[in-house]
Order: sequence, then structure tokens, then C-alpha cells
Amino acid sequence: MKKGEQLYEGKAKKVFATDDPELVIVSYKDDATAFNGKKKGTIAGKGVINNRMSNLLMQRLEKSGVPTHFVSELSQRETLVKKVKIIPLEVVVRNLSAGSFSQRYGVEEGIVFRRPTVEYSYKNDALNDPLMDSSHAVALGLATEKEISAIRRMALKINRELKGFWNTCGVTLVDFKLEFGRLPDGSLVLADEISPDTCRLWDAATGKKLDKDRFRRDLGGVEDAYQEIMQRLLQMV
Ligand code: C5P
Repeated sequence: MKKGEQLYEGKAKKVFATDDPELVIVSYKDDATAFNGKKKGTIAGKGVINNRMSNLLMQRLEKSGVPTHFVSELSQRETLVKKVKIIPLEVVVRNLSAGSFSQRYGVEEGIVFRRPTVEYSYKNDALNDPLMDSSHAVALGLATEKEISAIRRMALKINRELKGFWNTCGVTLVDFKLEFGRLPDGSLVLADEISPDTCRLWDAATGKKLDKDRFRRDLGGVEDAYQEIMQRLLQMV
């Protein structure tokens, strides 16, 4: 597979063309940002961990019937994925209160929900990714009613699979963000990444944060937390 021109550079990844118009190469960086790019830094080794973790989790999800963009891991930082048109919605699933949920409703972090929640934000940096009702997404033509139903169903299935898996690693899956894309035939696949950048992962016994909140909140031990969560995962795969 030949690596072609850079098509896009995001906050944590670069995307390159290949000689196959239906495939692209994603390259994971160590750069970390938070609060819509207002906080910037580097987490040494993060790109390698996120690449590996995302690929392992997506392969598990594929086996359980969730279609993903994953094709093959090319190197420590690079993965071949199906080229998709990203639906401009951030899909957040929550099992426990934390982060923006706790802030919005003035509640402590760590309340175990009676049922998982699914919410959508409009992927738009200039607007700070505002929360978006699914009817608004349909109204603006970002996704069809049918796609929203499929996304919600897939998000909840992904939650069941990942929550169960992390549980076996002694880790609580608090919440996470997903992105979906359309293949040329219009079908939906899980895209982007599943990593400590996009999930809240707490040690089940101690509540210790093993994710990007250590960077966002200046808690220290950021690199160690990424290494630790990766080790926990590797022991169980
Ligand atoms: O900040 P908030 O509580 O809404 O985040 C919910 C989940 O979505 C967290 O796991 C966070 O890591 C993830 N997220 C993300 N990218 C964003 C916003 C949130 O990965 N732009």
C-alpha cells in the first residue's frame, strides 16, 4: 500500500491518501489538546498507544457485528482504514456522571446511571461543538432519521461490548465519544478512534483516572496512566 499526499491534519491524527481511492492511512500523533484546542501539549507515546488500543477494540467490535473503518495496522502509529464521509456529529454515551454532564446539571461525578445516555454534539470547532438534538441534525440534513436510529442502536451496542470488556480489565467505562462515517455505498461504519483520548476510564477499585482527564485537569502522571490502561487491555486480549 503506497502512502500518498497528506489529506488532512487534525489535533491528534494525520490522514494520508493511498493508491486505492477507497482507503486512507491514519497516523497517530503524540499531540494532545483540550478545551477545543485552548490547552495544548504532548503526551509521549500516546500515538502508539491510541493506534494499538483503537485497533484492538475496533477488531473486537467487528467480531461482535459492529462495522468499523478498520482495515489493517501498518505500523506502531499508522493504520489503514476505509475512507468515509464523516457525519458531523459527536456521539457521546455515558454510564456514569462526569465531565460536561456533571457541570451542566450541577451533579457530582460518579453517579451510576439507571440506563446509559446517548447525546449528540454538532462537530464544529468555531461553535465549540454545541449539543444538538437529533431532530436538529435531521432538520439540517446532517443525517437522516434512519441513520440517527442506526447510530443510536450501534452506540448502545458498542457501549455494551466495551463496558463488558473493560470490566474484565478492572476498569469502569464512564463515558466515551464516537464518530460515524458513510462508505461510498451509503452504509454506516464506526470511524475515528476509541482510546484514552476519547473515553473516560477509571480504575474500578480505586476510581483513579486512567485517561485524558489527567491531561485536561493537570492531575500529573499522564504518560503513566496511558501506559497503565494499555497494559490492562493487553492482559485481557
Ligand atoms: O466533556 P464531556 O463530558 O462531554 O465528554 C464526554 C466523553 O466524550 C469523554 O469521554 C471525552 O473524552 C469524550 N470527548 C471527546 N472529544 C470531544 C468531547 C468529548 O473524545 N470533543
